Amino acid sequence: MDHPGCSIIAKVVPNSTSTSRMDYSSSGLELGMFYKGDINGKIPSQKHFLDERPDIQCHASTNILDPAGRGHAKSGKSNDTLTFVSTLNIPLSVGYLELRSSNPFIHPRIFLNYYEKPEDLYLMMSSLKLSREMLKQPPLSTVWGVESDVDKEMSDEDWEKYIRKKSFSSPHPCGTVKMAPESQGGCVNHRLQVYGTKNLRVVDASIFPTIPAGNINAPTAMVAWKASRLIEEDYKNKS
Ligand SMILES: Cc1cc2nc3c(=O)[nH]c(=O)nc-3n(C[C@H](O)[C@H](O)[C@H](O)COP(=O)(O)OP(=O)(O)OC[C@H]3O[C@@H](n4cnc5c(N)ncnc54)[C@H](O)[C@@H]3O)c2cc1C
Repeated sequence: MDHPGCSIIAKVVPNSTSTSRMDYSSSGLELGMFYKGDINGKIPSQKHFLDERPDIQCHASTNILDPAGRGHAKSGKSNDTLTFVSTLNIPLSVGYLELRSSNPFIHPRIFLNYYEKPEDLYLMMSSLKLSREMLKQPPLSTVWGVESDVDKEMSDEDWEKYIRKKSFSSPHPCGTVKMAPESQGGCVNHRLQVYGTKNLRVVDASIFPTIPAGNINAPTAMVAWKASRLIEEDYKNKS
């Protein structure tokens, strides 16, 4: 599993003054655009986020975030680029691995399977359409012009082509050795022990049974914390 992302890029329109360019990192922009309450720049708190399980994560950056095209996190020339990124927080599509050899040093084939489920494609399409709409309205449109590949009439088929061509990893791959009953394809049990072995645990993002609805560094740290308790318990029970 992974959180696929896809972006829309805008460039400073000719004749915009340099002072109107976005010279700051994305946080200021996100605050200004998405937080509608406080004009004094007060940081939003949890109560402002009513949906505790949002299905899309959007962020804006003055870097070019287009790994499927022009590479990851390249700074635009003199901050002349704005990227809106949409990420699927709760993708339904699940990928798979194929071993190419019994030799553990040969890399497996990885099939990410993005947008296998139409619901994922629909969500991404809706989010990109909304991003484009925001970029094409003032005040953003007075400074930023959407790049030509999406600055035109687009059918849903066009959007699908764009999304399939431009999508990239968050990168949050996980769940390749999931914790689940063996009968359901699980590789480790609820104590993170690998089925069919003794004293072998897996402690990383690969044991997630489903992908968390958000970035996965903190959940990985929580798995590590829990595993340390499990190992300690087993050690004490043995002695
Ligand atoms: C560019 C990038 C940006 C990210 N940004 C964010 C973010 O902003 N927020 C967030 O929450 N998450 C982010 N992530 C995701 C997050 O960092 C990872 O999902 C998380 O680190 C996964 O932890 P892990 O322990 O499963 O794997 P890893 O952190 O990849 O750890 C695997 C470890 O195993 C070691 N290893 C590999 N092979 C062997 C071997 N054969 N023998 C011994 N050791 C081996 C590696 O050296 C590595 O130390 C980002 C990831 C990337 C790549």
